[in-house]
Amino acid sequence: MESTITVSPRGEERIRNGHFWVYRADVGGGQADSGAVVRVVGPGGRFLARAFFSDRSQITLRIVTKHDVPVDRGFWRARLEQAASFRARLDIDATAYRLVHGEGDLIPSLVVDRYGDYLVVQALSQGTDRLLPEITSLLGELEGPKGILARNDPRVRLLEGLEQTVTVLHGDIPEKVSVREGKIEYDVDLTHGQKTGAFLDQRENRQAAAQYVGGRVLDCFSYAGGFALQLASRADELTALDISEDATAMLARNAARNGLSNVQVRTTNVFDELRTLDRMGEKFDAIVLDPPAFAKSKAAIPKALSGYKEINLRALKLLKPGGFLTTCSCSYHVNESAFAEVVFDAALDARVDVSVVEKRMQGRDHPVVLGMPETYYLKCFILRKLE
Ligand code: SAH
Repeated sequence: MESTITVSPRGEERIRNGHFWVYRADVGGGQADSGAVVRVVGPGGRFLARAFFSDRSQITLRIVTKHDVPVDRGFWRARLEQAASFRARLDIDATAYRLVHGEGDLIPSLVVDRYGDYLVVQALSQGTDRLLPEITSLLGELEGPKGILARNDPRVRLLEGLEQTVTVLHGDIPEKVSVREGKIEYDVDLTHGQKTGAFLDQRENRQAAAQYVGGRVLDCFSYAGGFALQLASRADELTALDISEDATAMLARNAARNGLSNVQVRTTNVFDELRTLDRMGEKFDAIVLDPPAFAKSKAAIPKALSGYKEINLRALKLLKPGGFLTTCSCSYHVNESAFAEVVFDAALDARVDVSVVEKRMQGRDHPVVLGMPETYYLKCFILRKLE
């Protein structure tokens, strides 16, 4: 039997305004099992949607459809097929990309990433956690992967009362999976790497940034070399910085594997290193700033803004006139206009004039939903220092 949940007038308005979440405060009544798909009705009893129900999270309802249709195996199969056929339209020149991106594919809180013949899934709410056996079986049928890994270790699962686990759901998962992005090949550790193994959301921004690269290049917050490896073949020399020894070791191996002998890797704190480079009077033709999310919560915003300002100010000083800065923020708490403002502040303090070459966001395989600002998390500006 399907449970029915009634939302308040404000909850109904949110849904009508294009949002896919209803918070606990906007739920009027009704009970359901954790993770069940429920019927959502307005205060007058009119059908509004079907949604995943959570009995723990502040986000009580995550909408899966606004049509009055049964949510069964055929429904989920169609959703997964639609997600895959959209990716096929994108002509992705890489063997690693996001196959399912939660709300952007109308499967809220489900992530599926493809790494060659392997898939990595993340179930980030009670709804997708409960659905995981069905999703695994459908992915097996539709995609025929050699293995499916659940990277259910993100902390957000705790808000749903779910444990943090990493488990093989299907087939085998090797220690290293080799993938290709453009001309670059690299190894990914699906089980222990950051996120699901790599930062797939930056793929298109790396290609974009590479167009403007030449001469002496500095890649800050490199991880395993996402930007560095794409940029190196166009640079005379490239220096990559990351604080993690594991990351710089991976990067050095990846550079050697791709025959990129002009890449220098340094294990260091970017904040300190930018200051040192400035003191030494070093100059670069292109710089990339791809820091981790500085603002993981609303409370962290002021500190995050001062962090973004600091690195952008230093980088703009280190750039030669006519040089290019690719600067990113993946904190969704810092929206595009706040990020633009902080970068502008940095330019004013550095006393440089800057033009905007490109304003970009997360790759198209990570779709943003209009009406849901939470889904627009990655901002990437490519700037040119005028003099
Ligand atoms: N640019 C990468 C992804 C970067 S993720 C890509 O395209 O794949 C952010 C990285 O910043 C992580 O590898 C983390 O180890 C590193 N990091 C975090 N704080 C840092 C700091 N203060 N100095 C240097 N690196 C830092």
